Amino acid sequence: MIIVMERNTSPDAIAMITGKLEDKGFQVHLSQGVERTIIGAIGERTQATMEMFETMPGVEKIVPILQPFKLASREFKQQPSTVMVGNNMVGSGSLQVIAGPCAVEGRELFLEVARMVKEAGATMLRGGAFKPRTSPYSFQGLEEEGLEILAEAREVTELPVVTEIMDPRMIALVARYADVLQVGARNMQNFFLLRELGKIDKPILLKRGPSATIEEWIMAAEYIISSGNPRVIMCERGIRTFEKYTRNTLDLSAVPLIKQLTHLPVIVDPSHGTGKWKLVEPMALAAVGAGCDGLMVEVHQNPSEALSDGPQSLTPENFNSMVKRINNLKAALQ
Ligand code: PEP
Ligand code: MN
Repeated sequence: MIIVMERNTSPDAIAMITGKLEDKGFQVHLSQGVERTIIGAIGERTQATMEMFETMPGVEKIVPILQPFKLASREFKQQPSTVMVGNNMVGSGSLQVIAGPCAVEGRELFLEVARMVKEAGATMLRGGAFKPRTSPYSFQGLEEEGLEILAEAREVTELPVVTEIMDPRMIALVARYADVLQVGARNMQNFFLLRELGKIDKPILLKRGPSATIEEWIMAAEYIISSGNPRVIMCERGIRTFEKYTRNTLDLSAVPLIKQLTHLPVIVDPSHGTGKWKLVEPMALAAVGAGCDGLMVEVHQNPSEALSDGPQSLTPENFNSMVKRINNLKAALQ
């Protein structure tokens, strides 16, 4: 539930409420506005507890949060959240373009593509150092060497880097190199991993699981936020349906829905969302039209030689023309 305090309530009255809430086993989240304090209380709400808090000094009203997700919900926080990644603000009208190969394959190759995507207008770099592959015999990523290459590319391009985290044991290592930790689709409901990511001070890019409903996906965000890390960026990357012409079905209705149900920024990955490079630009345009806060796109100098996800990777030239078109569309929509 949310406890809305009267204007200019004294810190003592607020402390009394939060103390009482904690006694009753609630988790307390304070949101201090200029005039008003709002107290988010997560726990088991009964009619009796609501009535008890309603009569305490300084309380204006109690609003129950009806959704199963609380801290992520619009009910809890009406203003959209922004997430700072270096100097880039994700949310609040900007359009972030995260680009790079599926996997970091080698130093020269990655540094070259990093420069190319920056030149074309990318605002962040991507590249997996730990790859979740369907087959244990496929390329699994360069691991720490890949992280070192990512960090070097950040130095050279001055762009923040996004990379996947698959295992709680690797969080400290990956967080040492990366600016944003990506939870891949396959790990969206790895609740232990989500909880551990709630304890670090880095933005988390949370991909939607291939079979996750929107509610399950927001509940995954709730795990991270309720563990202490509010810097969550949602990423729609397609879900599994009966359709076979595309690798996944990109659910763009998720973009306005996430914005209506939560205060979190949401970006779209049309590469995994379609699996086909020829569909990436049209779906990127559609995602911008749907109101996303950014795009994540796979780019490779030579897609036919890529160690993973070549068929969905844009060449740097195609990426360059896509960025021009999305920027034109974004400007026209403003
Ligand atoms: C990726 O971004 O390369 C990736 C593995 O994505 P997803 O988890 O969405 O499949
Ligand atoms: Mn990929």
